[in-house]
Amino acid sequence: MHSEFDIIRHYFSRPAPSAVLGIGDDAALIATTAEKELAISTDTLVSGQHFFADTDPYKLGYKSLAVNLSDMAAMGATPRWATLAITLPRSLLDENEAWLAKFADGFFDLARVHQVELIGGDTTCGPLNICVQIMGEVEKGKALRRSGARPGDDIWVSGHIGDAALALAHAQHRMVLEPEEIALCLPALLTPTVRIELGQRLISLAQSAIDVSDGLMADLGHILECSDVAATIELNEIACSNTLKRYLPQPLAVNCLLAGGDDYELCFTAPKTRRKKIEQLSFDLSIPLTHIGKITAGSGLVVLDSQGRALKQEAKGYDHFNV
Ligand code: ADP
Ligand code: MG
Repeated sequence: MHSEFDIIRHYFSRPAPSAVLGIGDDAALIATTAEKELAISTDTLVSGQHFFADTDPYKLGYKSLAVNLSDMAAMGATPRWATLAITLPRSLLDENEAWLAKFADGFFDLARVHQVELIGGDTTCGPLNICVQIMGEVEKGKALRRSGARPGDDIWVSGHIGDAALALAHAQHRMVLEPEEIALCLPALLTPTVRIELGQRLISLAQSAIDVSDGLMADLGHILECSDVAATIELNEIACSNTLKRYLPQPLAVNCLLAGGDDYELCFTAPKTRRKKIEQLSFDLSIPLTHIGKITAGSGLVVLDSQGRALKQEAKGYDHFNV
């Protein structure tokens, strides 16, 4: 079966000569003024696919904006405007109009934090589906792209990876977490932190960046493909929470770490010479930034275990058509 990316490549990737950057990165770039570019991205959340139908509407409103803001963070852009296309089942309105009020509160509470204005959208009746388009600004020529990684670069990730996937595994009864562990992991799945300021500060430090939405291996894989390079990362270096650590090296936990989606942390590459500055940035923003490996020449991603052996794990992340 075609992967999501085959479909995009085959049917939708056409030249867009008037865009600064078209299909293939976290956002497209359009030159709006002599000094600035507009970064544009869109993400859809589908009921039953990206969230459980009974998800708390406040958290759903929050997350539907958060996943879009994350693409702005990955470009180093400052988010400014959003549009919201929402499809609502009639039953949801008839039974409980409070649902919409809570959804809007979650959306606008996060919008306020990042000074994003909702400027349009579309409202239709049908199976619950939320599509947000986000627009942000970035100084001309400065946006972080997936294509800038060079051999010798360090690979870094922000925050902790894998908690969202761990919470999802619990919710889907693929494992059983203790109640206090659920309380620690669930926020990563329902109300992910967005790294806008980090993305902006990385403009002067990183060569390439992506947000980890589909899984670390898959998303780092996009950087490798777009930059035409290879990489080696060390499993033990990938920063994860104490909760996830407790389940390592169980295969499911390793999978959460390497291939679990929904983290919305940033994965970026930078020359070795910038290590001190990146550590200082981590301190300034109080965000853990962890060096997990290096970019090499060639192609492919190697993950080393604690003994320095290459893991056989495939670089699989979330793919809408191959789940
Ligand atoms: P992300 O995970 O950062 O949201 P995606 O993996 O969803 O990015 O998409 C990869 C790239 O393909 C992006 O540049 C996106 O804009 C583009 N893309 C996805 N679907 C389509 C489509 N139907 N038509 C045109 N471009 C698309
Ligand atoms: Mg992205």
